[in-house]
Amino acid sequence: MTILTLVRGDITEQAVDAVVNAANSSLLGGGGVDGAIHRRGGPLILAACRELRAGRYGKGLPTGEAVATTAGRLPAGHVIHTVGPVWSATEDRSDLLASCYRQSLRVAAELGARTVAFPAVSTGVYGWPMDDGARIAIRTVRETAGAGIEEVRFVLFDERAYGAFEAALGEGDGGQG
Ligand code: ADP
Repeated sequence: MTILTLVRGDITEQAVDAVVNAANSSLLGGGGVDGAIHRRGGPLILAACRELRAGRYGKGLPTGEAVATTAGRLPAGHVIHTVGPVWSATEDRSDLLASCYRQSLRVAAELGARTVAFPAVSTGVYGWPMDDGARIAIRTVRETAGAGIEEVRFVLFDERAYGAFEAALGEGDGGQG
């Protein structure tokens, strides 16, 4: 049984077995969560990402997939990089967003992680509406998490994101919470 928790805060400060990075396909850094993780985690994370680009992910990490590296100097054990879809008003990319959560949890389970922290993937620079992003995140984690993962923590940067996740968490359990 996996417990879903919400905290308002900064994902780089989470002392969990794995933190998920809202990366971009290049794996070579960006803004938002990605920038914060590389800034706080130090150069080892970028070095590991460059190695991935030199090997298995020569063309970059495809949208919806996930891959792990060291967490460098972060208090977490590992960083799991996933690439969210850019929001589109004309094309339904929900499956790709759900895939980010599913694949990240698969990688976490492979690492033997018992505690995993996620940001609200795609809801920043990639423009996904927060309420919908929260619903997809909560639903997918509820459907997927198992195999030894004790806690999935959503780390929400601001009050609006926290509120959206709180509402989504309440939807599936009869409206409490
Ligand atoms: P994406 O490119 O997938 O949209 P972003 O990093 O731009 O990713 O944003 C994803 C979400 O994470 C946004 O809701 C943003 O406000 C939030 N965010 C930004 N920095 C942090 C941080 N240090 N910790 C947790 N959440 C963050």
